[in-house]
Amino acid sequence: MSEEEVKKKKKKEGAWRLYEYDYKTGKITLKNKKCPRCGKITAHHHNPERWACGACGYTEYIGKETKKS
Ligand SMILES: [Zn+2]
Repeated sequence: MSEEEVKKKKKKEGAWRLYEYDYKTGKITLKNKKCPRCGKITAHHHNPERWACGACGYTEYIGKETKKS
């Protein structure tokens, strides 16, 4: 990945604070992310990649702008 692309990705840093993105492998290293709504640990899901809280139903999409409902 070029330096330019890395810079673009870093602009999204705000939403990525709780994840570690490995630019070399393209893998996301997950940290325990707490649900902002109820404080429980959210689960990671794919297609689309997202965090979902099983307790209250909160969903946060990864790599896109956070959708709040
Ligand atoms: Zn929750």
